[in-house]
Amino acid sequence: MESAMHATTCRCPLCGARLDATTVLAACDELIDHETGLLAGRCPFCQGLLEVRLGPDAIELGYRRPGGFEVVSTLACPGLVIDRDSEGLTLHLSGRTLHFTAD
Ligand SMILES: [Zn+2]
Repeated sequence: MESAMHATTCRCPLCGARLDATTVLAACDELIDHETGLLAGRCPFCQGLLEVRLGPDAIELGYRRPGGFEVVSTLACPGLVIDRDSEGLTLHLSGRTLHFTAD
């Protein structure tokens, strides 16, 4: 049975650096899919491309594949607030505000 508790850190799937949710979200610079809350960014350690799906109280690192999204790691992200508007997404986490504009 899958636990509802998620880790608060994970390893970068590319370089193995330890990442937490704040680091991952701060490294995102592109809103791929406004509807599902899919972001892309680069690992601050290896500059490798990461794709991140936003969820309630957690974010998922992984990659798009035909028909879905393959989750590599799930990170706890307690207190994450996602505001959607017609322009894009605004995330509020640990006193930080991150804004992503849809294309
Ligand atoms: Zn990395």
